[in-house]
Amino acid sequence: MTRIAVLPGDGIGPEVIAEGLKVLRAALGPEASRWEFVEAPIGWAAIDQCGSALPEQTLAICKGSDAMFFGAVGLPARDATLPPAQRPETAALLGLRKGLFANLRPAILYPEFADLSVLRADIVANGVDVLIVRELTGGLYYGQPKGRTAADGGERAVDTMVYTTGEIERIARVAFEAARTRRHKLCSVDKANILATSQLWREVVTRLGRDYPDVALSHMYVDSCAMQLLRNPGDFDVIVTENTFGDILSDEASMLVGSLGMLPSACLGDGSLPAFYEPIHGTAPDIAGQGKANPLAAILTAAMLLRYSFHREREATAIEEAVKGVLRSGARTGDILQPGGRLVETGEMGDLVARAVEDWYVRNDRTL
Ligand code: NAD
Repeated sequence: MTRIAVLPGDGIGPEVIAEGLKVLRAALGPEASRWEFVEAPIGWAAIDQCGSALPEQTLAICKGSDAMFFGAVGLPARDATLPPAQRPETAALLGLRKGLFANLRPAILYPEFADLSVLRADIVANGVDVLIVRELTGGLYYGQPKGRTAADGGERAVDTMVYTTGEIERIARVAFEAARTRRHKLCSVDKANILATSQLWREVVTRLGRDYPDVALSHMYVDSCAMQLLRNPGDFDVIVTENTFGDILSDEASMLVGSLGMLPSACLGDGSLPAFYEPIHGTAPDIAGQGKANPLAAILTAAMLLRYSFHREREATAIEEAVKGVLRSGARTGDILQPGGRLVETGEMGDLVARAVEDWYVRNDRTL
């Protein structure tokens, strides 16, 4: 029995996760009965029920699962009632992502939705399909020494960027493997003209590239990459980079797509912890409970879960093609509504995609 820990969380989390599950079940078809979806409280919902943002029983369910399917946590209106370290964004998220070193964030803009992008339509006329693979547990955010001391009548602050060969190798391998499932192009991003960590990064990635002769490897400085993502976003397939650069570039890439409500993500480790899948958006308290949330990020997150944790390429494709078809039909939640589009609520969007998955299987034999 495959077991998925389902963690809806706060705000629109439960609304979008319900639709993600609906579509995941449709993609699995009769096999869904052999999958167990175990829901557990997290975030403010868990604080209210059990007194902590990540209760022991939730953690136990997560550890005993094959993958985690997460909505979002955090309610700004309640922030003042807890110190930052106990708030869900810190207490729950960091607890679950600990040790998961690879963050995968695809940004896909279909050519027919070019006008949703913040970029000029002619720049994204051929669409965008880039996957950013960000190292998540090393680099500047965690390196030691770190901190502030008194100096020269003022203060001195230090952060340390540090990477080892092993840390670079394992993230690069994830990126090369991902490129193999896509268009076989990998761009490694660094600042090797200045930073020692980047020089090691480039050497290690280049050496590893020899194991992947079918993947076209290139290198780019991070400043140049920030520019090229705006100038020629369609040129990129997979980008691999360290923690800080990835943090910034993945947010930049998300803007190419037009709405937070369309962007899935995954955090993968070495298998000792289950992988963590979540839409990149937050709890959107301004629209929660009103049927206005776009569930497509959560639905596309379900496709990532199938692809990366279970190698179910066919089911993942069924979901992605279904999303494309539904968007082409003109159905839109408010955040992506264009002139001529048809406004639908969260649940209706989920129903439409689930039905489109069924239709996809009618055209492409489910048993293959
Ligand atoms: P947000 O992503 O929740 O919302 C930003 C804007 O985008 C809002 O206008 C919202 O309505 C809109 N939006 C987001 N997702 C949408 C969707 N699926 N469909 C339609 N519109 C959508 O970011 P925020 O407002 O900065 O944060 C709200 C809360 O969420 C905060 O407490 C924050 O800490 C938390 N948060 C949690 C996570 C997480 O759990 N991983 C991530 C980001 C923010």
